[in-house]
Amino acid sequence: MSAVPVQQLDELQEYAHAVAGCTRCRLAQGRTQVVFGSGNPRADLMFVGEAPGFHEDKQGVPFVGQAGKLLETLLGEIGLTREAVYIANVIKCRPPGNRDPLPNEIEACEGYLFSQVELIRPKVICTLGNFATKLLTGRPEGITRVHGRPQERRIGSADVQLFPIYHPAAALYTPAMMNTLREDFSRLPALMSPTAEAPPAPAVPVPAAVPEPVPVGVGADAEPAQLGLF
Ligand code: URA
Repeated sequence: MSAVPVQQLDELQEYAHAVAGCTRCRLAQGRTQVVFGSGNPRADLMFVGEAPGFHEDKQGVPFVGQAGKLLETLLGEIGLTREAVYIANVIKCRPPGNRDPLPNEIEACEGYLFSQVELIRPKVICTLGNFATKLLTGRPEGITRVHGRPQERRIGSADVQLFPIYHPAAALYTPAMMNTLREDFSRLPALMSPTAEAPPAPAVPVPAAVPEPVPVGVGADAEPAQLGLF
């Protein structure tokens, strides 16, 4: 990995500093700390999850619980580490009891994510689950319909490929989901170097009758019922 330009590092660190005292929404009252994001500030690949859970709130780092371990495993299988990518969430503070983020919380926080994207300028952003996918695609289609299908988008001044995939927490509660996650992850290397021959997108759309597995709170310590999986 080449050295990170000091200016880029500084800008992201300064921005994290500025966001650390945020009081834009009521989540500020219950949080231990703002969970800004972590990883390589000039990563080609960025992941966007939903919201910090219990462990993330305590440690100040996204995806450090069980879902994070799974994310690390999936990254390892395509030859990457969490240090090589950048990881952030739609909202930066833990919702009480790991409930779903509320629309007003997303609205208050989304500008931070958009600015992170503009500073990092990744080639590919993997949106993990419904909240990140709907926010960054700007469309209502859920993850069951759009996972594994790259979409070009402009976020602020940055042109990126969005690549929606299921949230890793879905595979914690529905192990069969791991195959789908693996299959979608396996397409990432080709997406990041578009000259390489890309494997074809899944040919058969998932039937509409399949329930969407991650519609609600997926903090690291969320219970299955909160995940709306059963
Ligand atoms: N941990 C996070 O940081 N984000 C999620 O969406 C889930 C667990």
